[in-house]
Amino acid sequence: MVGRSTAGSVKHLGGHVVSATIDEALQIIRKRIAPLWPLHSFVATNPLGGLTDETFEDAVDMAVADPLLGAVGPVTAHLTDRSALASAGDVILIKWLEQYCTADQVTWQPPFPMDDFLKFARAYAAVDPAVADTTPFAGDLSAAEIIDDAVQLSPGRDPVEVLSAQLDALPGWAGYVLALSDDPTHPERITIEQVCAVRLLLATALDEPLLEESAPAGDGGRTLLAPIEEGESSLRELLHAAATSRSHQDSPSEAALCFCIDARSEPLRRELEDRGPYTTYGVPGFFGLPVSSRSPVHGSQLACPPLFTDLSRMSRRTQDGVGTPRRWLQQLQDIIQSLEHGIVTAYSTVESRGWVDALWLSVKTLSPAWGPDLSHGGGPPAEIELEMDHSTAIMHISQLFEQIGLDTTVPIICFVGHESRSRNNAHASTLDCGACGGHSGVANARALANLCNDGEIRAGLSSAGVDLPDTTTFVAARHETTTDTVEIIDPPTGSRTIGALQDVLAEASTAVARSRAGGVNHAVARSQDPAQPRPEWGLARNGGMIVGPRRFSRGTDLDGRVFLQSYAHGDDPEGTVLASLLTGPVQVAHWINAQYLFSTLLPAQLGAGSKLYHNPLAGIGVRRACFGDLQRGLPQQSTHLPSGEPYHEPIRLQVLIIAPPDIVTAALAAAPHIAGLYTRGWLRIDVLNPSTPTRIQPAQLPVDTPSTGMGT
Ligand SMILES: [Zn+2]
Repeated sequence: MVGRSTAGSVKHLGGHVVSATIDEALQIIRKRIAPLWPLHSFVATNPLGGLTDETFEDAVDMAVADPLLGAVGPVTAHLTDRSALASAGDVILIKWLEQYCTADQVTWQPPFPMDDFLKFARAYAAVDPAVADTTPFAGDLSAAEIIDDAVQLSPGRDPVEVLSAQLDALPGWAGYVLALSDDPTHPERITIEQVCAVRLLLATALDEPLLEESAPAGDGGRTLLAPIEEGESSLRELLHAAATSRSHQDSPSEAALCFCIDARSEPLRRELEDRGPYTTYGVPGFFGLPVSSRSPVHGSQLACPPLFTDLSRMSRRTQDGVGTPRRWLQQLQDIIQSLEHGIVTAYSTVESRGWVDALWLSVKTLSPAWGPDLSHGGGPPAEIELEMDHSTAIMHISQLFEQIGLDTTVPIICFVGHESRSRNNAHASTLDCGACGGHSGVANARALANLCNDGEIRAGLSSAGVDLPDTTTFVAARHETTTDTVEIIDPPTGSRTIGALQDVLAEASTAVARSRAGGVNHAVARSQDPAQPRPEWGLARNGGMIVGPRRFSRGTDLDGRVFLQSYAHGDDPEGTVLASLLTGPVQVAHWINAQYLFSTLLPAQLGAGSKLYHNPLAGIGVRRACFGDLQRGLPQQSTHLPSGEPYHEPIRLQVLIIAPPDIVTAALAAAPHIAGLYTRGWLRIDVLNPSTPTRIQPAQLPVDTPSTGMGT
């Protein structure tokens, strides 16, 4: 036994120099794994985010050859046959991971330690007949000591090789464990280090090799990338034409509506602006509130991008629903769900309600719009309680208003949160708001409207320099992206402005739904059909982003493909605000874009495969059929047509920033990760100087471009 290597030292084992210590190797492994968030909070990530120190092309080449990054691993390849798994160790490890990570969803937990995966595995191994030799599991070595021993038994092999070999067959589970250990709303109780240690113990117990020879990286990715530049060029031309062909004049407005930057908002904003004196803004859909929310089923969940660690708590209480049919149905569903989770009642509940479900499913399949709507999303309004002190709230709100240059003197300011509706859809959260951690953004919009209408907050905002007359009222609205309907929640009564706005919103919604999905009724039927694999296309075909005033793109049909982030450079001479937009909204848009890009380019490796084979596992992921690794990325039905042809056009994010070039250069210097992504070809950044609004140039990088520092 040796002590744990200290970071920065070089170990000599068997006459060979090993390049990394165990700590360093674990850091390298963690960077290479793409986090996989649970299904109920499916946050988009760049599946090759750990390779952003490489050029885009080199990273794709590496992914094609490396199981942990992207190549088809032995476990992900099979569909139905347990014997096709790579090793008996992987079979057992997956079984243990499934039981450990889903234990908090059952009423009877396994009689093993549940606060440490290594202790859990030791206790389980003692009674698991699949583990014939339990000797390696005896003792009390820590995970680090077990890994140290394994490295010593593999002379001449880099610790990175030894550790990554333990996870090569389980990139999905490795990603899930990484996301869980990084989630600030969950206490850490399982780590990549523990999983590697347990896999090594299993290999020893089952007399399996600790690692096998892996294939060298080739250039297989280059051929995949050949067609994408043409699509990028044509979208860039669309952005340039939009930004340079307008008069760029602001017109008087009766209401300001703040939508999520989500590309699905763009058609609705365009239709709305065409029909009335309204101004729209684009902001990240969590509306600048770093909060978590509490769910009765899944506990604490992110309601903002996973870029914040210091979160305030938001809770939702259903109101006005007592005694209504929908409330009764909800209570009945809660009772049935609790019975299904009981170890004694689970089987009898499922058996006894099966015929009712079969009848109900048959009716809803033949006539989806018939009967009550039980789809994911929607529901009665909820009362929002936000645990955030006034000074913090004033700081967040004034920052948000300053970022987007919001005109706070208009009579109505409406925050529009968005959510999707679908049924029988394991990946439903991929259609909700990515900026809200894969949840509805309606609660965030309501929380912000409530704050802005509070007398003390308004006084604080005025003291902070926000021009906020008493005549300005804040409201919240819900945008259902599946049907493109918009509902203002709790509208103030007697307001002619609100009444006119509601009428125009209804017209705009109808126009968008008609152009996109064949009409509102058709869209509603799709959202309620349990047999519908494509309730909506989500963010498929996304590819561009404009950071700048809306007036530069207003009136142009951007085909729902462009993220629109409002930005006013007038009060930002140092580029500080723009830097925060680069590290926030641009980063999130890059994650979303990369997830669609790689789910389309490498669907078998970095996508989740067809929904036809999906077997959801307790709300945390999907497997293909009964066994195997958790599937990563988006399902095939989110990116491909029924014919099998790609619907999503796989291109990298094309960003157009409308601001003076020196401000953009200063912002890039303060956002080194985004500058690195740009330098290495992961996204493109162009700049339009508002004072010369016909010339668009590539962004100029600062003289010293620091290396990237973020993993995903
Ligand atoms: Zn959103």
